[in-house]
Amino acid sequence: MRGLIFDIDDTLYSRQILFVKAAEEVLGKSVGSLTDFVRIFYDVSDLNTRDLEQGKITTRECNGWRFEQTFKRMDIPFKAGDGVKAADHYLRLQSRMCLSDRMRSVLDRLKDDPGIRLGVITAGASDHQWNKIKMLGLEKWIDHENIIVAGDAGVTKPDVRIFRMMEDRLGLDPSDMWMTGDSYKHDIKGALDAGWHAIWLNRRGIRVSGPEPDVEVTDDESFEDILSLFKDQD
Ligand SMILES: [Mg+2]
Repeated sequence: MRGLIFDIDDTLYSRQILFVKAAEEVLGKSVGSLTDFVRIFYDVSDLNTRDLEQGKITTRECNGWRFEQTFKRMDIPFKAGDGVKAADHYLRLQSRMCLSDRMRSVLDRLKDDPGIRLGVITAGASDHQWNKIKMLGLEKWIDHENIIVAGDAGVTKPDVRIFRMMEDRLGLDPSDMWMTGDSYKHDIKGALDAGWHAIWLNRRGIRVSGPEPDVEVTDDESFEDILSLFKDQD
């Protein structure tokens, strides 16, 4: 028996495109390089994630600040309040998010495999993440009790305790656990430190020093290919 655990944002669906779209539609102009915008947005995101998960700021304030910091670092002119406007627009765009057809069929197959147990470990505030889980319809494939949201758990990735929590939920040993995610620091290093296997969806092709994942892919198609081959151990 193996456990296959998913991160949600930018793993099960691509969130980064929504951030860029939200910024461009609010500013009424291009933000320039998509890759740079996403990289900087994610760098500044690391700076206020803890405040969000501890309930010190709302998701709206959190994302508003991230947008404005990104605009500043990229020398993109903006008006006061544009960050929060972009955060609100991002939420509207998110309400239309969905899994790709291919991801849905991969999940159908995995769910029907008696040798595989599926789970989710996601960072972020409870309400916000559970809304996404509902919008994406993830409970069709993944049991409610096997979905861990950091905002509920009181710890977040890469803290090893959140990975141990998932082992307990599934009743499996670390060596039978596989994590999938786009963030090396949170998903991949966290899982490897917990003694798990890891599949890294490294869309931005970044290089890191540290323990290596079992599998690394750089695009959604290859990621879905890997998942469609995922089986219980022989
Ligand atoms: Mg992610």
